[in-house]
Amino acid sequence: MRRKLAAGNWKMNGTRASLSEMAAMEGIAGDATDVLICPPATLIREAASAAKGVSIGGQDCHAEASGAHTGDLSAAMLADAGASHVILGHSERRADHDEHNEHVRAKCRAAWEAGLVAVVCVGETLDQREAQNTLDIIGGQLAGSIPDGATGLNLVVAYEPVWSIGTGKVPTVDQIGDVHDFMRARLERRFGAGVGRSVRLLYGGSVKASNAAEIFAVSNVDGALVGGASLKAADFVPIIEALN
Ligand code: 13P
Repeated sequence: MRRKLAAGNWKMNGTRASLSEMAAMEGIAGDATDVLICPPATLIREAASAAKGVSIGGQDCHAEASGAHTGDLSAAMLADAGASHVILGHSERRADHDEHNEHVRAKCRAAWEAGLVAVVCVGETLDQREAQNTLDIIGGQLAGSIPDGATGLNLVVAYEPVWSIGTGKVPTVDQIGDVHDFMRARLERRFGAGVGRSVRLLYGGSVKASNAAEIFAVSNVDGALVGGASLKAADFVPIIEALN
């Protein structure tokens, strides 16, 4: 059985004062549920030292281990600061930093090299969905962004439709189920049934307490990658509880 995962992506939000919110998210997860918080990089070290029963992740890493890349962070640096996971290929990075599948794939290799779990994000834009290209886009992103060597322990995949992020618009449960079933089949085909069945698949995009239970009941949804509603314990705790 796959463990459930409630993951929070704080994006460019949070200062040290926000760590009290993280403290209030601890101890909520059930026996088969994990909680991951990905704060801004400035908070990783302090969050990781304070965290009890919550994993800490980065939001991006460079593909190289070190070098002349001003402003970037390597996967080994994130691990050294106490991160166990790193989000890669988020649509905001794909859009704001012109990241493509091949960049995400190289970053994923670097994350694995540093012993981090990669949380690889995929998702279609509204135009792509309306043109009925959703599964082609997702299939291409999975094939292009995930290197060989994936396992249920080093990879989590998050399906985040771009049009759903921060908009309050959520796909129907059938639309989510179609994409998650497709992703599961693709992972099984490429990595074999054992690995394909063990990779956790998260849904992300406007998840909140009021829609979490319905989304978590969809087949092949093993949890959520939550943005806005992960910043405050009052919003995130009920989402964790819906997974338990
Ligand atoms: P929201 O939950 O704010 O829609 O963001 C989702 C997301 O992008 C998580 O990575």
